[in-house]
Amino acid sequence: MAIQLGLSDIGTRESRLGSITGYIGDLKELSEQSACGTLRGCARCFSQSSSCLSGCALSQLSGIRDIAVVHHGPSGCSTTGTQSYRVTKQVAAKRGIVNHAVYIGTDMDENDTIFGAGEKLAEIVRTTYERYHPKAIFVSSSCASGVIGEDIESIVDDLRQEIDVPIAAVHCEGFKSRIWATGFDLSDHAVLTSIVKPPKQKRNTINFKNFYESARPEIIKIFAEFGVEPVFLYANATVEELSHLSEALATVCICGTLGNYLGNGLEQQYGVPYIRTINPLGITGFETWLRAIGTTIGKTKEVERYIARERAIYLPRIEALKQELKGIRCVIGMGPGYTFEVSRVLQELGMEVVWGAAWHYDRQYDDGNVPPAMKYLLENNPNFKVSVADQQNFEVLNILNKYKPDLYLSRHPGSTVWAIKQGFPALFVADEYMIFGYKGTLDFAHTVLDTIKNRSFERNLAEHVKLPYTDWWYQQPIGKFLEKA
Ligand code: SF4
Repeated sequence: MAIQLGLSDIGTRESRLGSITGYIGDLKELSEQSACGTLRGCARCFSQSSSCLSGCALSQLSGIRDIAVVHHGPSGCSTTGTQSYRVTKQVAAKRGIVNHAVYIGTDMDENDTIFGAGEKLAEIVRTTYERYHPKAIFVSSSCASGVIGEDIESIVDDLRQEIDVPIAAVHCEGFKSRIWATGFDLSDHAVLTSIVKPPKQKRNTINFKNFYESARPEIIKIFAEFGVEPVFLYANATVEELSHLSEALATVCICGTLGNYLGNGLEQQYGVPYIRTINPLGITGFETWLRAIGTTIGKTKEVERYIARERAIYLPRIEALKQELKGIRCVIGMGPGYTFEVSRVLQELGMEVVWGAAWHYDRQYDDGNVPPAMKYLLENNPNFKVSVADQQNFEVLNILNKYKPDLYLSRHPGSTVWAIKQGFPALFVADEYMIFGYKGTLDFAHTVLDTIKNRSFERNLAEHVKLPYTDWWYQQPIGKFLEKA
């Protein structure tokens, strides 16, 4: 379904993409059912807590330089604001810049939820504008303002007459989707509809959707060899940079789950090509991605020259490590983008993926096709067991106990720590660039070996921790609480 940039709100991933949060089976079944449109998710009759989509939406937006987020909800919802600290303070300081973005909560109380707080919200937006002079303002809803039907859209429409910077309503009521990645789409929709302007001239830039830009210097250097500049989004990007996204040569991303909506939106609305390949993790991913960029921007010779030079440096060293990595049995628990990208890299390095637990699964992306990482695995790699669970750690611990892997890999500390307490070596793949390119793949291989060679920390911790799970739970089938929806 085409992206509807004429509307202020968007459908959830469940309704737009057929995304699911409950499944158990294997990669082949999941992929084949996705491709032919028969995939149906399961519901859980028991579920642990999960995350709110406003975390993804507002942490993305609040990283944009010198903007304001006004989150219309009770004070508890504003804990999302703490996530922006890493980008606006730590990542910005690392780059040597200052980001004056502010995150304001409207602190709705009982009276507000009975009588409404539209006037209070408008006044807070005005005060925010006068006090902080932001370059753009994003006004977000929450469960509470959503339940009472606060008309944020009309309030924002009225404020546009008074405020001369872009201002957008962001409809991120936590209850509207079980899939927190819907928040990424909401942030992209707000940027596309309120900040991006129609193109006036083509620029020598490539839009690069990522999280924390830790490989920024390396990527600037690589792209310079092809005569183009990356524009990193959204952490510490300026509103001015965002307004020109439609003039770029192409859009790429570090993770399809993160970049899909913006990439497809820019392509659909302004004809900016979106590079839809597997992502640049591992050797195959990196080279496939680079070659697609080269073809799109007409720089295939430069890309091949770069690949040949870097292969000569890194491939012998990576090959040498494969002997030690061979046969290491891994369980993965990550968002769907990284679960299926990292699975490919582990298998490429000679390791065995015994189970992949994706926090949700997108049956398709906004272009109507199966995610490339999944398609690639199905066509090229060995099958493995797969589950879909919105970070339900009780299921992860059951999987780990049954399969007893050599290593658990997760991109979420709240999951990794449980594996360690259970006594399994675990790798927190925190940085999105941890397996980026040749050097990242080599470093990652070393990190895996370091993690599994010295197991005393996990052993000691497991001996001194009493977990809340009983033998009864470990004996239950992994999908015990899943029911066909
Ligand atoms: S918007 Fe809803 S789910 Fe999200 S933090 Fe607030 S109350 Fe919780």
